[in-house]
This record gives sequence, structure tokens and C-alpha cells, in this order.
Amino acid sequence: MYICKKSLIIYFLQQNKIYDLEPLKDILSKCEEIAFDLDFTRAKEWKSQDKKRVIVGYMPIYFPREIVHAANGLSVGILGGGDKKMIIKGDAYYQSYICHMPRSIIELALDGNFDEFDGFIFPSICDVIRNLSGTFQILGKGKFAKYLDYPQNFKSHIGGEFYEQELQHILDEIYKINQIKVTPARLNESIRLFNKNRQLTREIYDIRQKFPWRLTAADVYHIVRAGYMIPVEEHNAILENVIHYIKEDINQPLDKIRVVVMGAFCEQPPIGLIKTIELAGCYVVEDDFLLGARWIQKDIEEIKSENKLLSTLSYAFLNNSTFSSTIYDVDNPKEGRLLELINRRNVDGIIFAAPSFCDPALLDHPILQKACEENDIRYVSFLYNENTGQFKVIKEQIGTFSDSIKLWD
Ligand code: SF4
Repeated sequence: MYICKKSLIIYFLQQNKIYDLEPLKDILSKCEEIAFDLDFTRAKEWKSQDKKRVIVGYMPIYFPREIVHAANGLSVGILGGGDKKMIIKGDAYYQSYICHMPRSIIELALDGNFDEFDGFIFPSICDVIRNLSGTFQILGKGKFAKYLDYPQNFKSHIGGEFYEQELQHILDEIYKINQIKVTPARLNESIRLFNKNRQLTREIYDIRQKFPWRLTAADVYHIVRAGYMIPVEEHNAILENVIHYIKEDINQPLDKIRVVVMGAFCEQPPIGLIKTIELAGCYVVEDDFLLGARWIQKDIEEIKSENKLLSTLSYAFLNNSTFSSTIYDVDNPKEGRLLELINRRNVDGIIFAAPSFCDPALLDHPILQKACEENDIRYVSFLYNENTGQFKVIKEQIGTFSDSIKLWD
């Protein structure tokens, strides 16, 4: 690595080729700034340019953002305040023995951070999110606060129809605000853009599977999280740019094991924790952070008829969803899908990292860990909060895990 002090341009020299990494550095720092902007500045600026634009905030995990985009809206991910927000009022709303994320979301709501938001979506993943939707209704936040119930029956004429009705209800709420009718042409354009977004995100993960040293896990996290805050068109351009750089032979491999991190699908780990895992000797080549962005595993088909406006979104949810602790999966158990993922990503072990008091994650971990033991897969587990500030113990634990695999496997 050569650093030219005068211009502060950073070059990477590899196999007689010089790569100018300064533009990549700029993209990464822009993503980091956007990802943790708790004032949602970019979304509010976007909305201010057109009276018919709306902002719809959604909680983890998954929400089909296509429908809001097609209705002239921007869906913005609400992921809590992480370690960037001091909680004072939020603690008064909840008992001590539940996870941390709803407290910081309430704190943000009471501080007015969501004041320009038009509506809120609360996907049905656990009782905490269910109660949060009620609290938003009581607080009078937004023009609508929708508890989005997901089907637990995966037959298209039962669960599929139910899901379409739920999505139509959201479109009706947005229509009341901006009178924009979603046509097949509008929805197909949105489907194309989000298909591309998922393809590009998958490509970044696939490149990192082979060359995890080209981009850190924290960088990937910032890039994906930025996509929760800005229009998909802008995010697609960022992803294409990142891919352009990481296709090149940049940076040097280090002696680290390759791991999957599982359990962090809702309340997000602090970024210091993700960095600690990699500093302790691991390359995170797969994870379930920000899982909603990669929830649908195949391209969603475009629709052909207005009568079936939401049918392909519904088909995708029923048939092409990834696995998660929040989905009823008796016909396709998640432990089998985890083993398949481990094989596909060719990892050395699993890190089970769950938020404290997260029922969906913690109820599943014994099942998943039993599958690991039966298949001779190494794992380690720990708990975190979104604002955990001390990583020394976790670093020692992960470091020991990594060393034991390197020494004895
Ligand atoms: S972290 Fe777990 S318990 Fe908390 S809201 Fe999310 S899914 Fe529910």
C-alpha cells in the first residue's frame, strides 16, 4: 500500500497493477454516513421535491418495498438507534426483560425524528413489534400505522390471498394521502428496480465469499443499510460502483476463518461488534443482518394483468423467501436450510449472535445448534444489545473460537 501524503490519494499495488482506491473509500464513507443518519435527511429531502411523494417507515425484517415505490413513495427502514442514541424516555415505555430496539424507536419517535413520515409498517414477527404498532397508533404518529400480518399458511389460495389483501390495504392507505393509483406498468418498473437491487447485493456477497478481504463485513453492512434510507435507483448506482472496484484484485488475504453470523435479523448489532468479529480472526462471509434486503431469493416476476396486481409479490413471499426464526416453516425446516447455506458458503463455523431477550432467535438456537452438533459443525454463541459498548469478552471468545479451528481442524 502506498499513501501519497500530498494528495492523500490511496493506491494499492498488486501484481504490477495500481488501483486507485480513493473513489471506493469515498463511496464507503458516504454509505456509512447515510446508513446511520437518524434524522433521515436524504429521505426528507427527497420528499420535499414533490407534494405527492410519501415516506413510509418499516420495521424489520421484510417488507415488499416495491409497492411503496410504485405508489410514488420511499420506504425507509427503521432499525432503531443503535449505539448512536441515548435512551431516556424509551425505557419508560417498556419492561426491562425485552429486547432493546423498541426503546430506541420510541425515543426517536418522541424526539420527532419521524415527523415527516406519512405511515409506518410493523411486520408481524413478534409480540414486541405488535405492541410497538399499537404504541405508534396511540402516539398518533403518521397518517397510518399498519400491523402487517404475514401468512402462516403457504397455499396461494389461502395465505397468498390473505397476503395480497394485506398489501392492498397499504396501497389504499397511501392512495388516501397522494391519490396515486398503482398500475401494472408502475409496479413492474418497481419490481425491475428491486430485482436489480437484490441481484447486485447478492453479487457483492458472492464476490466476498471468494475474496472476503476485498471489503470488510462492516463496509458491506454500511452499503446495504444505506439502501434502507435512499431511493432504490440511487442505491443501485452505489452497488454497481462498489462491484466495479471489488471485482479487481485489491487488498491482501489474512489468516482468518470463514464464518456465518446467525440470529441478528431484527435488532441490529452495533457496528463495533461486527468489526470485533473480523478483528478476532474471522471473515464474515454470510450473515442475517439487514435480512429484509435479501429476503426474496429469486427475481420477482413482472405482472401481466391488473386483476392480479399483487400476485407475483405474493408468489415470491410464499415460495422464494429465505429462512428465518420468524417464519412458520414446518414443511421446510430452517435447520436444513442453514446446513445448505453453510455448504454453499463453504464456511468453517457459525457464530450465533442474538439480541438479549429476542424470543424468535433464542427459541430457535437450540434447534439450530443441535443440527450443527449432529453434523460436526463448529459454533459459538453470545448475546448483544444494539448499544453494547464493551467488546473485550466477545473478542476473546471469538478469537479462541477462530484459533481452535485454525489449530485443530
Ligand atoms: S429483536 Fe427479537 S424480540 Fe426484539 S423486536 Fe426483534 S424479533 Fe422481536
